[in-house]
Amino acid sequence: MSKQHTLPRVGFVSLGCPKATVDSEHILTRLRAEGYLISGSYQDSDLVIVNTCGFIDSAVEESLDAIGEALTENGKVIVTGCLGAKGDVVRQAHPKVLAVTGPHATDEVMAVVHQHLPKPHDPLSDLVPAQGIRLTPKHYAYVKISEGCNHRCTFCIIPSLRGDLVSRPVGDVMQEAQSLVNAGVKELLVISQDTSAYGVDVKYRTGFWGGRPLRMRVTELAAALGELGVWVRLHYVYPYPHVDELIPLMAQGKILPYLDVPFQHANQRILKLMKRPGSSDNVLARIKQWREICPDLTLRSTFIVGFPGETEEEFEELLDFIEEAQLDRVGAFAYSPVEGAAANELPDHVPPEVQQERLARLMLLQEEISEERLRRKVGKTLTVLVDEVDEEGAIARSSADAPEIDGLVYIENGQQLNVGDFVEVKITDSDTHDLWAEIP
Ligand code: SF4
Repeated sequence: MSKQHTLPRVGFVSLGCPKATVDSEHILTRLRAEGYLISGSYQDSDLVIVNTCGFIDSAVEESLDAIGEALTENGKVIVTGCLGAKGDVVRQAHPKVLAVTGPHATDEVMAVVHQHLPKPHDPLSDLVPAQGIRLTPKHYAYVKISEGCNHRCTFCIIPSLRGDLVSRPVGDVMQEAQSLVNAGVKELLVISQDTSAYGVDVKYRTGFWGGRPLRMRVTELAAALGELGVWVRLHYVYPYPHVDELIPLMAQGKILPYLDVPFQHANQRILKLMKRPGSSDNVLARIKQWREICPDLTLRSTFIVGFPGETEEEFEELLDFIEEAQLDRVGAFAYSPVEGAAANELPDHVPPEVQQERLARLMLLQEEISEERLRRKVGKTLTVLVDEVDEEGAIARSSADAPEIDGLVYIENGQQLNVGDFVEVKITDSDTHDLWAEIP
């Protein structure tokens, strides 16, 4: 451990979902604002912070491994994040950690850092850019609008980890979004556990932004973000009725015509066991209506297969729904019993081999749908945002592609483009997930 430097250095390991990434960014921003340096190596760090994920068993393992590695390589480790909320799990596996905090705990983490690694005398706060430190590339950024969730889906432990919904004041969200845009961000990805519930906890109170009143409600927030002149993409939109109000904003081009709605299943009984809303007939009618209002709409959803008690017929009802709904992007997971989730107590767990077989059938069907839907884009002209450029061309995304989870658009003659450019391209080819294009 050679630390031949004067300024204190902190190593940082960030695991987990985009929401955890935002927590990491807040901690990193505070560290830099107080004059700490961020180090890329264990050996060169005075201590290491590990931001963990505790959502499913494999994430728990990955987080515990990361903590173990940091302890071996460095020795001084602070644990934060979702796994941190289950403090005893971390302490049992790794009794030597300095401290364990839950998610969204920047103040607590900073207090522990101060205790073990005093603040430098000459804070380099000038070096911190106004928009903070972000872990995503410069041209897109996640904006977290709330924390926690009021639902109690039986397969999920997020409410017990993160508590009930707490919405960020609308002025703060808009200020952060404006700073990001001023710093060159071209795409804002709005995230939370439940984006459409924004403001429910404060009864949709009216806040202020830019000297005018602005209601803390997802429609009003989306419209205001849409005025910033960049792409605005909404994630994790629980299918409440008022989600319908967002579709005209998409049709008018104010926000991206992209809706990430986790439906989870189509069978009424399973949805009830999951404590999720909606009947598939109603959902199909809404999807039809959304597409009539906004024909360019991209729909992404996630589904759980092999939920406890799911019969072959109920699974087939889900397949019929997928066939009928013709969603653009689908993520599917075999039900995995997360420790502490109410669904674990349900009877008739589906054997893993049946779960895997159902998962494969669902994905095969969705691949056919995706391939066909992408094929229809060949010959069209689309606006894309450039993510990467090299000698082979550029890699970009269209309004249908959220970073890291959806497809890509490969621009074969895009060598001269710059990262963060918006460019119009003609689609020349497609496969199951991606598109190929050229600049005309
Ligand atoms: S809405 Fe999402 S975060 Fe909330 S309980 Fe359900 S799955 Fe968990």
